[in-house]
Amino acid sequence: LHLPVVQNWDCHGCTECCREYHVHLTEAEHRRLVEQKWEEAPELAGRHLFVRTGWWWAPRFQLNHRPDGACVFLSEQGRCLIHERFGSEAKPLACRLYPLVLVPAGETWRVGLRFACPSAARNLGKPLAEHSADLRRYTRELERQAPDGGRGQGPPPLQGRQRLDWDDLLRFVAAIRAILEQRSDRLERRWRKLAALGVLCRQARFDKVTGSRLEEFLQIVAAGLEQEVPREPASLPPPGWVGRVLFRMMLALYLRKDHGRDRGLAGRGRLALLRAALAFARGRGHVPQLHAQLPSVRFEQLETPAGPLPAPAEEVLQRYYTVKIESLQFCGPANFQRTFWDGLEALALTLPALAWLIRALADRPPAEAAVQAVRIVDYNFGYNPLLGSRRQRWSTAILASRGEIERLIAWYAR
Ligand code: SF4
Repeated sequence: LHLPVVQNWDCHGCTECCREYHVHLTEAEHRRLVEQKWEEAPELAGRHLFVRTGWWWAPRFQLNHRPDGACVFLSEQGRCLIHERFGSEAKPLACRLYPLVLVPAGETWRVGLRFACPSAARNLGKPLAEHSADLRRYTRELERQAPDGGRGQGPPPLQGRQRLDWDDLLRFVAAIRAILEQRSDRLERRWRKLAALGVLCRQARFDKVTGSRLEEFLQIVAAGLEQEVPREPASLPPPGWVGRVLFRMMLALYLRKDHGRDRGLAGRGRLALLRAALAFARGRGHVPQLHAQLPSVRFEQLETPAGPLPAPAEEVLQRYYTVKIESLQFCGPANFQRTFWDGLEALALTLPALAWLIRALADRPPAEAAVQAVRIVDYNFGYNPLLGSRRQRWSTAILASRGEIERLIAWYAR
């Protein structure tokens, strides 16, 4: 196991995950729940427990939800009936694992977290290391479900077909972490450095530069970034109109919430969603309330300078990015098989998205605005199929090739 040391977590029983997600079952989990004879439980009388998905010749099942959107097994008192009656181990693995994420990386599992969980976003609970025993049990279960535990596919490519072995790929991760830790810079400059590192490394070949030579190379490049990357965000030109439009279209994907307690405009039908998409493309007038947490605000308000991110907000974002990088949750199987650099660029674009959202959520203290912004963004990052689509990869590639990522980061930091 490779655990991020900056992060704490414990379940505080908010039940959000039991209301927000669809739990897909393995065959064994489905069988186990059937054998538990829930049809005899008075709390579940007349309710269907499963929803059938998949093909008729290969059926799959997920847990049913009640009309209010909660999992069928969530009791009126906000407790899981399976847990109450048979103990935690009787629950589907997805329920026990969430919000922890296990990313296969060679001979190790890297442990990440979904910041959509309020306790994860607020850093509440024990250090992750104290969950090691549970995590080891989950890895064994995953390895039983898939004999190679998903590790057989090897490291994600750097770009295209350019592949390194795990040790060298992790040297890149260490170099990125080192830049992310340079606290003498604001977070926005560190991310502009990372975007510049991506641009430089995309031009290099690494077939003969491995091991300690690669480490040396990365140290030299990182030192060069100190000179190359402008210190002040105001010295960068503003993003161009292509950058702004693509950025706002991406923002709309992050903000759109179609179900659950925070459901936004989706409740008013497809026409409302279409109008919202047009408003995001235009970028003028009131920001459509695609997410219930979004207060009433105009696009123009969010483009006026608001100064750098307040320190408490920056702390939340620092922890978020440390976990995402350490756990490799930005590329490979954890992010729609994106390549290393493509995944890093997608993660870099979450910074202007988060800064935009923190501005929009100015009705609450900065740390709370950052927590809410991270929850909204991370609900989608790596999980919303639209963000993993070909169209979105193309959009990220355009933004990166035109230098718009650095400009967008600087624009929302001024
Ligand atoms: S099975 Fe239990 S833990 Fe899993 S979603 Fe349903 S109520 Fe929550």
